[in-house]
Amino acid sequence: MWKKEPNYLTHSLVALFLFSLLSGCHQGDSSTKAIASPATPSPTSLQTSPSNDTATAISYPSFDAEEAFTLLKKQVDFGPRYLGTEAHDKTLQFLRDEMQKYADVTVEQRFFYRDMPVTNVIGIFYAKGQNRPSPHPVLLMAHWDTRPVADGPYSAELAKGPFKYGPHGWNRLAPIPGANDGASGVAVLLELAKLFHKQRPPVGVLLLLDDGEDYGDFEANNFKGDGVELGSRYFANHYTEDPRFGHPAYGILLDMVGGKDMRIYPEQNSMLYAPDINDRVFGTAQVLGYSDIFVRDTGQTVDIDDDHLAMNTQGHIATIDLIQPLPDPNHPIVGEYKPWHTLEDDVAHCSIKSLKAVGDTIARVIYTETAN
Ligand SMILES: [Zn+2]
Repeated sequence: MWKKEPNYLTHSLVALFLFSLLSGCHQGDSSTKAIASPATPSPTSLQTSPSNDTATAISYPSFDAEEAFTLLKKQVDFGPRYLGTEAHDKTLQFLRDEMQKYADVTVEQRFFYRDMPVTNVIGIFYAKGQNRPSPHPVLLMAHWDTRPVADGPYSAELAKGPFKYGPHGWNRLAPIPGANDGASGVAVLLELAKLFHKQRPPVGVLLLLDDGEDYGDFEANNFKGDGVELGSRYFANHYTEDPRFGHPAYGILLDMVGGKDMRIYPEQNSMLYAPDINDRVFGTAQVLGYSDIFVRDTGQTVDIDDDHLAMNTQGHIATIDLIQPLPDPNHPIVGEYKPWHTLEDDVAHCSIKSLKAVGDTIARVIYTETAN
């Protein structure tokens, strides 16, 4: 993911205005079917354990954040996992094996970027009582590749000279470990896969582990990018070709959800394209006692160029992005992830507590969903 281009805020404000005019139409869109009647937990259903939800008589397996942390470490142990590397191949095999253990069906989308294979791994989980894919599953997604250059604002590598971008000119001398930026979201999704396998949720789920998010230059082609968000754009443009994917009711992107001292703020494009889902997720986190991490009442927002954009604009799937803020030396924000795109994006800068908050929240969102 990347900072938005400088003039994007203006676009967003215009778009928000237009959206407010058109929101009546948007509510009737079939792609928002499942969010028309969200099972948002009421404050009276406050609980101490998500696995013993007596107030709503819904029980589901508990999210094991220590296991998720092990899955995070496992990915980091493969080494930097960017396109074209052996570590990338090994990670793919690991993700494929894990997904096949838990999903009802595992599908891969494979294509090439500059002769390098790019692979999305997609797990299809049936809804409770069903023996076929849901026509409107919930899409949960995270990118599994890592960035080949440590070009974050706090990267010590920046002092060694400017990074080169451009066709085959990318400087790959300082690839990041990608513990938070890559491994954390995947770890949460793979741990959720175990839950869905143990007990089928009321809705079908697609788990999309997408590739090639972080390879290239986000600012190329007037900020359309080159070699970035490859897997999400591919999925957004091709998922209708495989009826097993259905048309997802909505999507939730997890990107950097495991950093220490993490805060997650509402993201502007998420509020623009999927306000109901955004409210529901932050509301669920609040019910679970995680409002210290999911902060939504301060007026603070973030604006991120990430995999959710392709889903919203090309795939017509209303999708939000949950992400620890990217650091900006000119505008520091509480809970930002300073090791972003540096060699310090490692296991030591991640935390079980952060994975737990996100895993619990998403598990509850899915298990309290209305069958569709
Ligand atoms: Zn990144």
